[in-house]
Amino acid sequence: MDLKKFVTIVDDYPKPGVSFKDITTIMDNGEAYKYATDQIVEYAQDLDVDIIVGPEARGFIIGCPVAYALQVGFAPVRKPGKLPRETISVFYDLEYGQDELTIHKDAIKPGQRVLIVDDLLATGGTVGATVELVEKLGGVVAGCAFLIELSYLNGREKLTNHDIRALITY
Ligand code: IMP
Repeated sequence: MDLKKFVTIVDDYPKPGVSFKDITTIMDNGEAYKYATDQIVEYAQDLDVDIIVGPEARGFIIGCPVAYALQVGFAPVRKPGKLPRETISVFYDLEYGQDELTIHKDAIKPGQRVLIVDDLLATGGTVGATVELVEKLGGVVAGCAFLIELSYLNGREKLTNHDIRALITY
């Protein structure tokens, strides 16, 4: 299946000059959503994964069906103040300023093999911070899977020591 056909490009969103890749038109098509999920599941099967980790919010949409299919758990990575129990956090750079991501302190047990899943790899800031959170807890990042990679933003360079799979590349 040519998944790229199901991505809707929205020009000048969220600000002028940005070409936003809207994945809701993958999700609202049952066959495309299942195909995308199955592709990531297939990738994960070779990695002997114990748990899926996904950053809010679209990482949940892609990561949870993958966790269900593999019969492993899912741990959410969220913006500060959203998780109810003790968390650890990591700051990462944005184009202007910084942002912070958090994870429950007990979400990953030392030595667990983790697959990080998100909808899109752009500059790599989000996934880089997620890798840091996982590794701070003693987890082993077995791989990182995305629906879309914007290769011209060189996000892979932030992940040189990790295995990356993207289903669609721009
Ligand atoms: P990065 O941190 O620069 O790699 O940006 C990736 C994060 O921003 C992901 O969590 C995406 O959900 C979001 N993102 C950035 N650009 C797009 C886009 O064009 N479509 C959908 N999400 C995007």
